Amino acid sequence: MAASTTTSQADRPARPQWKDVHRMTASKTPETDWDNAPGLLDGAMQLHLTAETCNLDYWFSSVAQGTLAGLVDGHTPGAVTPEHMRRPGPLRTALITELGFRTVAEEKATRAISKLVETAPDLAGMEFYATQLIDEARHARVFRNHIVDMGIAEADLSATIEEYAGKDIQQVIMPLEDFSQPIRDAGDYIGGVILLTVLVEGVLAPTAELSERKWRRLDPAAAEIERGAGIDEIRHLTVGSEIVRNHLIAHPEEKPRIGALIAQGQQLWASVPVLEMLGRREALFQEGLAEHAAVAGDYEIWPGRRLVDTTAEERVAKAMQWSAEMQENRIAYMGLR
Ligand code: FE
Ligand code: FE
Repeated sequence: MAASTTTSQADRPARPQWKDVHRMTASKTPETDWDNAPGLLDGAMQLHLTAETCNLDYWFSSVAQGTLAGLVDGHTPGAVTPEHMRRPGPLRTALITELGFRTVAEEKATRAISKLVETAPDLAGMEFYATQLIDEARHARVFRNHIVDMGIAEADLSATIEEYAGKDIQQVIMPLEDFSQPIRDAGDYIGGVILLTVLVEGVLAPTAELSERKWRRLDPAAAEIERGAGIDEIRHLTVGSEIVRNHLIAHPEEKPRIGALIAQGQQLWASVPVLEMLGRREALFQEGLAEHAAVAGDYEIWPGRRLVDTTAEERVAKAMQWSAEMQENRIAYMGLR
């Protein structure tokens, strides 16, 4: 596959410097503030946000003109894609494989959310999912654009994603999509919210947190793209859980059905090769990390642990641990434990 030059940032229309814009529009809501928002895991497990609060007005002022103010392709203009990410090698392969998988997951989430916009029983839910739909479409776009920034021509994008991530998409995303189809066909709003919040975002969010942390030094632009998506994700996880929680308070008779749906979804996750996928991704990253250890320097991926000292197995185990904690926390918050 031909790796050709991408549209360089210099070719894109000039945008105001992010720092300037940011000072003018600094978010009034700390959870959407680029500098002050908590990390994805802490935020999603500790904050309480509702669909009523996170309405369209909130999204325009706190997200579009807050989190996203001044960003270019999902990151601050000063965060660059380093040259070593544009040269063939294990780091670049690892990130194309990861972002290829994730851009497709985000695209599918966007399309699935259109059903929640359609079936939301109230305006608060309808507006919230309309904003989440745009968030996920944006994630799909910025992940895709970062592959282009790594030197893949836009014309080769689909073929490249298929080449690097086609098997993972087939083995991990498609079974989830098949599983959710009957719920979508039935117009089951709460079932759809559960699938999205617990089974898709609750499981995948921790790998996104890992990604933000591990690319911080090696690809600052990618890490910032993850940061922006992570800030959105706090909202998706907390509001989704709140909607289910309220539904179960009003309809406690639904608990067995919702509990069974979660159990089936967890069985499905256990049956797809997600560990193998993460293992492959981290093994490639490990190879690249060894090549570029000087760039990572003494950077700590979590307190007291230098990235260069971690192993692929350790990072996978951490993501799985976070994932279990996140799911458990969300399920308990919904009142299902
Ligand atoms: Fe997303
Ligand atoms: Fe999301």
